[in-house]
Amino acid sequence: MAIWDVIVIGAGGVGSAAAMHLAKSGARVLGIDQYQPAHDRGSSHGQTRIIRQAYFEHPSYVPLLRRAYDLWDELEQNSNRKLFHRTGLVELGPIDGVVIPGVLRSAKTYSLPIEPLLPAEVTERWPGIRGNHDWQAVIEKNAGFLKVEECVQTHLDLARQFGCKLMHNCKVHQWEAGPRGVTVVTDQGSEQAAHLLVAGGPWSQTLVPALSGKLRVLRKHLYWFDPERSGFEETDGFPCFFHETSNGFFYGFPSLNGSGVKVARHSGGQPIEQPDNDAAADDFDDTDMQDQQLVSDYVREYLPGVGDRVISRAKCYYTSTPDEHFVIDHLPDQSNVTIVAGLSGHGFKFTSVLGEIASQLAQGTKSTLDIGPFGIARF
Ligand SMILES: Cc1cc2nc3c(=O)[nH]c(=O)nc-3n(C[C@H](O)[C@H](O)[C@H](O)COP(=O)(O)OP(=O)(O)OC[C@H]3O[C@@H](n4cnc5c(N)ncnc54)[C@H](O)[C@@H]3O)c2cc1C
Repeated sequence: MAIWDVIVIGAGGVGSAAAMHLAKSGARVLGIDQYQPAHDRGSSHGQTRIIRQAYFEHPSYVPLLRRAYDLWDELEQNSNRKLFHRTGLVELGPIDGVVIPGVLRSAKTYSLPIEPLLPAEVTERWPGIRGNHDWQAVIEKNAGFLKVEECVQTHLDLARQFGCKLMHNCKVHQWEAGPRGVTVVTDQGSEQAAHLLVAGGPWSQTLVPALSGKLRVLRKHLYWFDPERSGFEETDGFPCFFHETSNGFFYGFPSLNGSGVKVARHSGGQPIEQPDNDAAADDFDDTDMQDQQLVSDYVREYLPGVGDRVISRAKCYYTSTPDEHFVIDHLPDQSNVTIVAGLSGHGFKFTSVLGEIASQLAQGTKSTLDIGPFGIARF
């Protein structure tokens, strides 16, 4: 007889949310993480994450985002913490590029409120942002950023309040699933459950052999710039921004209480095997220097007044599938093992709803949202 209904491996972005939803629904749930969340060794750290609904990647994400928004609101109410800052988001790029047509398509399909503008009109409103004259801009007012570490911590705090047991600084070495349940072996002993949920972020391929060779882990960097003049604070009304340029995709956030303007490159990244073996990450090698140079060039060209003084930086990992869409599924030959992985550098905003979906799958219920496109068999 299993002790736990569900064991969740990983208490990062997805695992923390899943643990909360499982515990809230009355399941006996154990959440395990190799570190003390919210930590800075995986993919869910670095102060902020952009959240938006007019999704340029594909309109099929919009129903998931609507539910994600409801769940972030609910989490804020239940915890009495401010997690979602609706600063608005300015997206800029070529009219025949990827971002602007994608945003317009999702907004049209789901009647989402957006405001199309010319780049010059953007600069009139925010002198710290500019685009090429032949580009288009779109403002999504109902977008903004999530405080990433606070979101993870809040999900875990509520999970605990709903009765979830959390084991931190506890590494899972192996697991085995059979028709009678699942056994998970950790460095603090073995645990048994009816169902296993693996939410291992950049460690997913190590944890789930079926994903081996299907995910690419990329080392990415975030940079905080000390602006040369005022106007870049959240309290000044400075928004989040996302640019599609000939050098790739770049994005950023307003400065929060003097933290500096955070800017990063969504494109590129240094492929690595998995974070534990990423020795170069602390050295900041040539590829990282090139990344910082590209970000500085972008800042000089498109963010007038941000300047070139980097006061802080952080590394983080994308875990990307070949098509850059998520994996949300049971393992094909082990229906009592659910996987959420491969969030491909755009998954944090979804973690509230992914936690709910994972909780449903782990309890044998189907999600009412369409997760068909995220099946593991497509690779
Ligand atoms: C630089 C950067 C910028 C990003 N920007 C955005 C953005 O603006 N908007 C957005 O929506 N998304 C963004 N993302 C993507 C988003 O942050 C990730 O998709 C999301 O945080 C991934 O969450 P996760 O739960 O899959 O992984 P993680 O949060 O890393 O969680 C995995 C957990 O599993 C644990 N674990 C792994 N192996 C074991 C083991 N053997 N035993 C025990 N525990 C284990 C780890 O310790 C970790 O805590 C960004 C990502 C990065 C890196």
